[in-house]
Parts: sequence; structure tokens; C-alpha cells
Amino acid sequence: MKAHSRCWAEVDLDALCQNVSAIRQRVGAGVRVLAVVKADAYGHGLRQIAAHLMGNGTDVFGVANMVEARAIRSVGNGSPVLMLGACLPEEVEDAVHEGVMPTLSSVDEARWFSMAAEKAGVTVPVQVKVDTGMGRLGVVAEEAAVVICDIARLPGLRLEGVYTHYAAAEEDEAFSARQWRRFKGLLTELARLGVVVPSVHAGNSAALLHESEVGLNLVRPGLLVYGIVPPGSRPMACELAGRVRPVLSLKCRVSFVKGISAGDSLSYGRTFVAEKAMRVATVTAGYGDGYPRAASNRAQVLVGGRRCRVVGRVTMDQTLVDVTGLDQVRTGDEAVLVGRQGEERVTVSELAGWCGMVPWEILTGISYRVPRIYQNGCAA
Ligand SMILES: *Cc1c(COP(=O)(O)O)cnc(C)c1O
Repeated sequence: MKAHSRCWAEVDLDALCQNVSAIRQRVGAGVRVLAVVKADAYGHGLRQIAAHLMGNGTDVFGVANMVEARAIRSVGNGSPVLMLGACLPEEVEDAVHEGVMPTLSSVDEARWFSMAAEKAGVTVPVQVKVDTGMGRLGVVAEEAAVVICDIARLPGLRLEGVYTHYAAAEEDEAFSARQWRRFKGLLTELARLGVVVPSVHAGNSAALLHESEVGLNLVRPGLLVYGIVPPGSRPMACELAGRVRPVLSLKCRVSFVKGISAGDSLSYGRTFVAEKAMRVATVTAGYGDGYPRAASNRAQVLVGGRRCRVVGRVTMDQTLVDVTGLDQVRTGDEAVLVGRQGEERVTVSELAGWCGMVPWEILTGISYRVPRIYQNGCAA
């Protein structure tokens, strides 16, 4: 038996590279691509994804902590790494020593880096975050020009970037336009003051799809790199959604098949009671693998090339599906939780929808127990 025979994720590296090319085409030459690889590259495996992206059109990597930054360094030293969150006080020295670009939201934070840089005898490239409406990090847009000038004057620091983050680019056109205006206003002010900023960026995946003007000179997609289109109500501004394809599939096996009678209940809490005789398959994945418990009685799983509904509660290691009418189902058959089987496909977004979750949550929830199997390595 192979080690991945119970529940595994297949990661299609060709799809990954094609998605990055599609993003490149969308933004055009002269715009650099920062691939967001936080949270284990959205569950795809950070080291392997970073290694493949390094040779395939990624200029910068975005991470959430120093452990992720080190994982990138361990596969290749050349690529710049941007910490997307704020550094904690104890992370400052490590970031400086390991050449990780911090995101700054205040002059105070900048002073810590300036001091650490002087102590280490290095110049640290820094990026300043501007809050245009996300409300999470950043200097308020209208005060940002002054703060950026103060930061740029600190010894040991070099202003590498200024960026902002959309709060609702996939659904709220008016609010996104307001964020864009505030950011543009700041950039105009900086130009007037003669401040040179090498990297200026705002575009996450949703902005790349829904905003017509995302160019600036760098974009910052996460979900789209992995071939998933963020669900949203706004019309698409470009063809990009049709040019990406999912990188990850999540698969498991049928471990038992049985018939049940009307009145029989299934799984914990007895939330499903059969109304008639049925055939039920037990499959080898559960919430311990990251298949959400919220999928109970709602989601569909592909078995025998057909969509079969989940019946009863998802348990830690096993899930039950209704295979009534499928005569050929046998112990050992493959069951697809996310991905393609025959003519059918279940997408991450569809599973997220059934579960009242977002695609980001499904991908990053796939647990350590699930081996990632890499396929179709693309040429560098
Ligand atoms: C996570 C993150 C992104 C990527 O977002 P997607 O919606 O996955 O494209 C971009 N920028 C910042 C600051 C982030 O934290």
C-alpha cells in the first residue's frame, strides 16, 4: 500500500505555472508578480511551490511569518521576501539578519528596524502599508505622505515599496473605487514631494479580476495563483478567470459499502435518517484531514464519476456518502472531495459554498496528515 492511499492532495505544477503566466499576461510587461505563499502556500506545500515559482515568473514572495520566510530561503536565496503582516518586536532582528522586507505602519515600527539595521551594519529595504479602507494595518492614507517621508529619512532603511489592500474588490465597486482614489491621491502627493518608490501595489486576486486599473508596477495575487477565482458578485473586468485552473485536488478512498433500510440513522448525532432503502459508502477522509465538519449533510463527493451527497455528520477520519443507484462501487475505489473524476468536477469554491466557508479556508484547512503529491513539474 502506498502511504498516500487514504487521503491525499494532488498538486498540478503545470497548472500553477500556467496560472502565473496568465496573471503575467493580464498585467503586462513591466509589472512584477509577488506570489502570496503564506499558510503553506495556501495548503499546497510552501517549499515545493516556492521552488517551482522561483523559476517560473515570480519576482517576489509574500509571507505571514519568519518560519515561512525561512522556508523560501531554504529553497533559494535570490528572491525578495515581503512580510505581509506587522513584525512583532522579537522578530525585528531576525528579519533584518535574514533579509526579509518588513511591512511598516508607523514611524515607531520603522525606528526598531532602523536601529536593528544600524546595529547589523546593513541597509534594510522596507515597504509602507497604507490603510485606504481595510482597517487592519497601515497608515491612514491622508497622513501617509508625512509618515513615509519620516520613514525614508531614518538611517539604515531604504524605501522599497508603498502598498494598500482592498477590503471588498469582489463585491463592492463603489468602496473599491474610493480605496483606489485615496491611494492614487497619496501617490500623486508623493510624486509632488519627489519621493521615489520602486514598488507600488494594491492588486490582490479579486482586484486583478474586477478592477480595470491594477497595473501600478507590482501585483499581489494569492488565490488566483492556485487557480481559484474568489467568489463575488461584481462582473469581471477581464478574461483572467477563464485562463486559470485549479492546482489542487483532494482525494480519498471508499473503505466500506453497505445497504441500509428506511428508518436507519447515520453517524454522530443521528442527523440523517434514511427515508427509504439506500446504499451508503464510507470514505477515508474527515475533519482530521481538513474536510470540514460543516460539509455534513450538505456537500457532494465524486464516486464512480457521479456526484454523491454527504449523509450524516462528517467525523474525524471518515465520511459517509449516498451511493444509491451506483452498482459498481467497491472498497478501494477513489473518491474525489475536490477535483475531477470522469466528466464531473467539484471545485474548492463549491465546497466552500456548501460549508458556509470561503475557498481560502478550505485550502488552508487541509491538514498535516494529508500528503501532497506533486505532478507535472513544469519547465523552469
Ligand atoms: C493574503 C494577502 C494577499 C493575497 O490575497 P488573495 O485574495 O488570496 O489574492 C494579498 N495581499 C495581502 C496583504 C495579503 O495579506
